[in-house]
Amino acid sequence: MALVVQKYGGTSMGSVERIRNVAKRVAKTYDAGNDMVVVVSAMAGETNKLVALANEVCEFPDNREYDVLVAAGEQVSIALLAMCLKAMGYKAKSYLGFQVPIVTDTSYSKARIESIDDKKMRADLKEGTILIVAGFQGVDESGSVTTLGRGGSDTSAVALAAALKADVCEIFTDVDGVYTTDPNICKDAKKIERISYEEMLELASLGAKVLQIRSVEFASKYNVDVHVRSSFNENLGTMVTKEDKEMEAVLVSGIAYAKDEVKIAVMQVPDKPGIAAQILSPLSDANISVDMIVQNVSEAGSTDFTFTVPQADFKKALSITKETAEAIHAKEVLSDENVTKVSIVGLGMRSHAGVATTMFQALAKEGINIQMISTSEIKISVVVDAKYTELAVRVLHDAFGLAGK
Ligand code: ADP
Ligand code: ASP
Ligand code: MG
Repeated sequence: MALVVQKYGGTSMGSVERIRNVAKRVAKTYDAGNDMVVVVSAMAGETNKLVALANEVCEFPDNREYDVLVAAGEQVSIALLAMCLKAMGYKAKSYLGFQVPIVTDTSYSKARIESIDDKKMRADLKEGTILIVAGFQGVDESGSVTTLGRGGSDTSAVALAAALKADVCEIFTDVDGVYTTDPNICKDAKKIERISYEEMLELASLGAKVLQIRSVEFASKYNVDVHVRSSFNENLGTMVTKEDKEMEAVLVSGIAYAKDEVKIAVMQVPDKPGIAAQILSPLSDANISVDMIVQNVSEAGSTDFTFTVPQADFKKALSITKETAEAIHAKEVLSDENVTKVSIVGLGMRSHAGVATTMFQALAKEGINIQMISTSEIKISVVVDAKYTELAVRVLHDAFGLAGK
């Protein structure tokens, strides 16, 4: 007998019929003799509706109440799934985050899980009850509801698997596994059988939303093998696991893109020590994270300073930067919301030269201009005009032979 944690995402829970399908799948695994903890997301589109309501009600919704609101979608899902299972004759029980409890810090809408108390869950499991836990939500020390950031149900599932020392952690979604790139924008994308935590971490943080980045951090920290697979068929999916020798042999494993960054450029800044810090520190003080940074020589004695920030922080970042620009006597501040970051990721890059050249040549051949570049040990990212997103992804997919894998 094994302890199995399964997570079903929004599309998999998207209608009554689909919830029934999930109930059948859960029942099948249970009937095979397993203890089961099932984490579910809100039904497809529900969280977006709640976010829109918050923004309709006021311009800057209160952080605490925002989390109370957006956590509501998961409450509906757990109840419906538990009802289905009970109607089928199974012992099932729904759990909200605070009922577990899944304790987090107080950073509303991006809370981090601090601890999970498994006492109540263990007692219910012992009685043969199937536990249905709300993904995405937790509770802070003072008892307030918190949420874990968009896509956070993945993290709930992996954290529960780690806390309960589960034998299996399965993330059921609307694609067959982790692909060489988003299968919804590149029809040649191929399923990857096994991928290292490190590569998955990069892909997730560079825009591949198939797993939330924190779920991969958890998996890596607690050595949880995560099986990403489809809720619509029985195919084996992708195992996200510890790195091994075979994985190192692959030059580029995957390509990710992120459309949710914007570019801000401070033009003709006096070129002297301390300027970068002067521009960036007011942004970090406002809790805005800056991603890519480029500084290049402009006219004599001055330089252009360009960086990207998350789309969600754009308005705030632009107004802060305009203030700074005035104070440091820069010429002007330009911005561009129509950019995409396209990245290639692979463990093999550590030991191979020439990957960047192949990437840049492939883009140049299609006339795609590279606006910014950043690299790390196992990834290269470029910022390009958003209208080239799909083309850039496809061209790079071909250039690194991913379709033929
Ligand atoms: P869920 O609702 O099940 O959590 P998500 O929509 O969050 O599902 O994540 C699945 C989606 O991730 C897929 O439909 C796909 O469009 C997208 N995706 C992006 N990059 C990849 C990739 N490399 N492999 C698989 N899916 C990807
Ligand atoms: N329902 C939440 C969201 O849409 C969490 C999740 O689906 O993982 O972001
Ligand atoms: Mg998701």
